[in-house]
Amino acid sequence: MAQSSKVSFSMHGVGVSSGIAIGNAHLVSNALLEVVHYHIPKKSLVAELLRFENAVERVRQDLEEIRNQLPSNAPAELSAFINTHLMILADKHLSEEPKAIIEQDLCNAEWALKQRMNELVAQFELIEDEYLRERKQDVVQVVERVIKVLLGHPSEVAIRPDESALILVAHDISPADAIQFKHHQFAAFITDVGGVTSHTAILARSLSIPSIVALHRARDLIRDGELIIVDGNDGVVIVNPDKDTLAEYRLRQEQWELEQQKLKRLKQTRAVTLDGVEVELHANIEVPSDVSKAKAVGATGIGLYRTEFLFMNRRDMPNEEEQFAAYRTVAELMKGQPVTIRTLDLGADKQMNPDAARSCTNPALGLRAIRLCLSEPHIFHTQLRAILRASHYGKIKILIPMLSTLSELRQTIVLLERAKASLRAEQLPFDEEIKLGGMIEIPAAAINAEAFARELDFLSIGTNDLIQYSLAIDRTDDSVSHLYSPSHPAVLKLIEMTIRAGNKQGIPVSVCGEMAGDLHFTRLLMGFGLRQFSMHPSHILSIKRQVLQTELQAVAPLVRKIMGLYDIEKIEPVLVKLNH
Ligand code: PEP
Ligand code: MG
Repeated sequence: MAQSSKVSFSMHGVGVSSGIAIGNAHLVSNALLEVVHYHIPKKSLVAELLRFENAVERVRQDLEEIRNQLPSNAPAELSAFINTHLMILADKHLSEEPKAIIEQDLCNAEWALKQRMNELVAQFELIEDEYLRERKQDVVQVVERVIKVLLGHPSEVAIRPDESALILVAHDISPADAIQFKHHQFAAFITDVGGVTSHTAILARSLSIPSIVALHRARDLIRDGELIIVDGNDGVVIVNPDKDTLAEYRLRQEQWELEQQKLKRLKQTRAVTLDGVEVELHANIEVPSDVSKAKAVGATGIGLYRTEFLFMNRRDMPNEEEQFAAYRTVAELMKGQPVTIRTLDLGADKQMNPDAARSCTNPALGLRAIRLCLSEPHIFHTQLRAILRASHYGKIKILIPMLSTLSELRQTIVLLERAKASLRAEQLPFDEEIKLGGMIEIPAAAINAEAFARELDFLSIGTNDLIQYSLAIDRTDDSVSHLYSPSHPAVLKLIEMTIRAGNKQGIPVSVCGEMAGDLHFTRLLMGFGLRQFSMHPSHILSIKRQVLQTELQAVAPLVRKIMGLYDIEKIEPVLVKLNH
């Protein structure tokens, strides 16, 4: 019997961003992501230019062929759509200017074209008109086609007039790749690998679309264009659903969206418990444009601005002016509300360039974050000056990642004072009272939290790394993600100790790891004495609802009980009880 080409099946992974999406699979061919940068010898310049011209010509022929073969009953907009792509391709910005880059930089054609595309996309972002702004997607698609030809695997993906319901299916992507997806309009995001708190997952979450990782064979089994349902709440993907399943999920999708609408009513409400204790709910951001998401849910500050994303996917380091502009934008947009800027946390799974080779055996234990900054003081100096200058335009605080010793903190203070002195010498204004905080995300720092609390203005607990380093679980490795357990008694004790140390010294303590946005832990953390949470904006309203429904006095005995338990299996049921 002939097999139907549309086999229906489901797959299970780990949901990292909630919501339900229904759309067509878009398999990431990685054309844009595969582009590497290499120099070409001068004698190969003419050949490289010709290679580029041939690829553009090949794409032009392909597009014309597609247009000529459109069936007579095809919607008119499809042919208009292809014409738009042909016009974009013919425009000198894409067909001529990359040649100048190849000549000037003696670089490969793919790289030159991608650089030009990035500049164009950035210009599109500034356009006020939404329709025109969205045309950047067309530029990206045209470039992707040319790059596929240059890389030797021309596109077979059909032209799509409507990008609104595309589901990105990838084997794996790096955080540097994921940050690029902020420019794309995908309805959902699924990958074969990736841990729950890997930076890829965190970025997937920050795209505010349903996302699932650790599906293992999605990229292999799902075909381009197939209809799929992504249920980020349960970590389920259904491929080629039947009519009834589709109807059921459309209903669930509506209910989910209704629920989100209801939550929006809490935007202006203060986060106060039933017994009158107020909690600050701040947002984590990766790029300045994320501020709008934070404001949309009524975040009262930015608790973590991960600045390293400004340093990714580029050939050079952002200079002081560029960094200053980004930090100042965030400070100004937040209009006097606190903005906690974390200094560079590059290294481990966050490399500047996705192609950058990992040069050490255990990158997460290597030259990362503050260690890297102290070993490259000129990079750190530039960033500190940019942050300090931006502090004149809002309420900025500085946060140092990955502290493990007091000596690192003291070296940091010396460099910070040096940056301040250089600005004073140039009479550049900055906030002389700027607060300095440290991330507690290494067990050694948590155990020694009191000493850090004595020398800092605030602490912020990075539970993602604290769990990784306490339990020796690589946060990016899904094969050990079942062992990644925030409710491990040792982890809870380290968190409780840190909060207690901060409270004892009278300095604010916040949690800015993923645990802060996990409803499961809100009451427990408040019971530990936590009064500041920072999380992805999409969690803020549901966490606020939980705070509003909490009576701290009733929570206290169960929190004490949890602290007296030594195995996860016994802690879990008490946590469930705490949340009822
Ligand atoms: C953390 O480790 O919890 C944290 C917030 O920092 P990052 O996730 O960027 O490592
Ligand atoms: Mg961290």
